[in-house]
Amino acid sequence: MTKQETNNQTAASTIICSTWNLPVERLQRLDVHLSASGNDDVYVITLTPDKPICKYCCSGNVQIIGYTTRKIAHTVMLGRQSVIKYRAKRYMCSKCGKTFLEHNYFSHDRQCVSVAVIDRIMSDLKLPNETFTSIANRYGLSPTTVQDIFDRHCCIGRIELPEYILIVENYAFHSKRLKSKYICVMMDFKKRSVFEVLESRRRTTLSDYFFRIPLNERKKV
Ligand SMILES: [Zn+2]
Repeated sequence: MTKQETNNQTAASTIICSTWNLPVERLQRLDVHLSASGNDDVYVITLTPDKPICKYCCSGNVQIIGYTTRKIAHTVMLGRQSVIKYRAKRYMCSKCGKTFLEHNYFSHDRQCVSVAVIDRIMSDLKLPNETFTSIANRYGLSPTTVQDIFDRHCCIGRIELPEYILIVENYAFHSKRLKSKYICVMMDFKKRSVFEVLESRRRTTLSDYFFRIPLNERKKV
């Protein structure tokens, strides 16, 4: 390994440990593959075994039976677009025979985007001149992924029901994410403003929505 490669690896270890609050001793192995183009550098991470207990029966008698590589989009490492390949250990419980993956420090379950990137994307989305596409280009993701991150992590509180509700259906662009081709838009008749948009105009969607609202609030409508 050249001196430059050693320096890159040391700097990357420091960034990885500080970004994910990972004790440095948990980093068993880090391989850095810098690309010639300056984009899509790859960091292959293996963590030291952490003696987990079985998540099904709580037995401490578990063994490593293999590795699953998960590709996690990160953002900028050493000033370049990068991807993390995390070699997650698969454990098998000797007592109940079930298998499970080790605790994932880098992303929420089944997501391919790291927690650190999600945090930055949510901050960027607050800026008025940003779009899903501009942010997607910045982090090397698709606009749909950025939109999905927004939908999963943005919790907007419900607005109280107004005295008069105007309900209209609206044709929504074709999307596999939506349950219906028609969305249901609810407006405050007096204020002439939208207070709720439901992903379907179906009766079940509407009843699910209204029955979650306290009766005394519904009675004021
Ligand atoms: Zn078990």
